[in-house]
Amino acid sequence: MGVFDAIGDDHHERVVVGHDPATGLRSIIAIYSTDLGPALGGTRLFPYHTDDDALTDALRLSKAMALKASAAGLNLGGGKAVIIGDRSTVTPELWRSYGRFVDSLAGAYITAEDVGTTTDDMHLISEETRWVVGRAAEDHGAGDPSPATARGVVRAMKAVSTHLWNSDSLRGSRVAVQGVGKVGSALVEFLTEEEAEVVVADVRPEAAALMAERFGAKTVPTEEILFEECGFLAPCSLGGALSADTIPQLRCRAVVGSANNQLAADEDAARLAQAGILYVPDFVANAAGLIHVSAELDGFNEALVTSRIEAIYDSVLSILQRAAAQDITPHDAAIGFAEDRIRREGNGITFRHGGE
Ligand code: NAD
Repeated sequence: MGVFDAIGDDHHERVVVGHDPATGLRSIIAIYSTDLGPALGGTRLFPYHTDDDALTDALRLSKAMALKASAAGLNLGGGKAVIIGDRSTVTPELWRSYGRFVDSLAGAYITAEDVGTTTDDMHLISEETRWVVGRAAEDHGAGDPSPATARGVVRAMKAVSTHLWNSDSLRGSRVAVQGVGKVGSALVEFLTEEEAEVVVADVRPEAAALMAERFGAKTVPTEEILFEECGFLAPCSLGGALSADTIPQLRCRAVVGSANNQLAADEDAARLAQAGILYVPDFVANAAGLIHVSAELDGFNEALVTSRIEAIYDSVLSILQRAAAQDITPHDAAIGFAEDRIRREGNGITFRHGGE
C-alpha cells in the first residue's frame, strides 16, 4: 500500500518516518492538522505485523486526535505516533533517539503517553525534546489524567440527562460501568457522590469487589454488564463494546463512557440510533484526559482545567441538539461540530508551527 493510497480522501499535513538502525527505532509520526495549534497525540508502542498496519494506525489515530481536541475547544491540532516494537525491544537509547525525532519537528508535533508507553518513557524523551507532555507529577508533569477523564464522563452524562429528561441531576440514575480500572473506579466514586445507583463488572474480580466495598456498588459478571437495564451504560475498559452483536441486546437509554473506539464499526452509530439508544461519541466523552494532559503545556492551571472539563457539558448538549435538528447520529454530529470549529477558528495555514 502506498502512503497516498493509505491517506485516501483525508488530508493529513505530514507523515514522517523516523528510522535509527543504531537503536532499532522504527517510528511513524502522522500529523493530521495543525490548523488549531500544534498536533498533540500520544506515542503508541505496538508490535505491528506490517509497516502498512503501523501507517494505517498512525493515520487513523491522528485524525481522531484532531477531532477530539477541536470538540473539546482546545487550540491543538491532531497527531499521533507509532513505534513498531514492544517492551522487550525498547531501551533508554531508543527513547532518546525517538525524542530527537520528535524534536526534529520543532513543535509541530507534541507527544504523550499512549498504549504501550509509560511516564518513564516520557521522561527519557524529555531529555531530548521539550515537546512532550504526560510526565509524572513529581517530574513536572500533570500526573495521572484518569480522575479528570472520569469527571468529563460525568459532565457528558449530565448533558444527556438534561437533553432527555430536562434535569442534570444523576440522582437515582442507574449506571452500568464496564471496567473499573483507573477511569472506571474514579467514575464510580463521582457517581456515588451524585447519588446514582452503580453496577460494575471487571475481569479482575478484586477491582469490582473493591467498588462494592468502598461505594456499595452492585457487582455482576463481566458477560452481563453490557446488558444491564439502566439509564447509562459506561464502557470504561477496552474498545469495541458496541457492535452488531451487542447492540440488539443493550437495555440502556444512553451510552457514555471513557473507552476509546467504543464502536466496533462506524455503522454501529446508526444501529444505536435505530435501537433508540443515545450514544455520546467516545472522543467527546473522554476528552478530559487530553484537557488534563495538554494543560502541562502552559504550566498546569487547575482552575482552567476544571472550567474546560465543565464545558464538556455544553459541547455534548450542542452535539445532541445538532443531531436532533439535522436528523443525524450524534457520532456524525460530533464530527461535524469538530470539523466546523477547525474551519472556523483554524487559520487554515499548515506547517506554521515550529521553532520559537
Ligand atoms: P485501565 O487499564 O486502568 O482500566 C481498564 C479496566 O478494564 C481494567 O480494570 C481491566 O481489568 C478492565 N477490563 C478489561 N477487559 C474487560 C472486560 N471485558 N470486561 C470488564 N472489564 C474489563 O484503563 P483506564 O486508564 O481506566 O482506561 C479505560 C479506557 O478509557 C481505555 O479504553 C482508555 O483508552 C480510555 N481512556 C482513558 C483515559 C485516561 O485518562 N486514563 C483517557 C481517555 C480514554
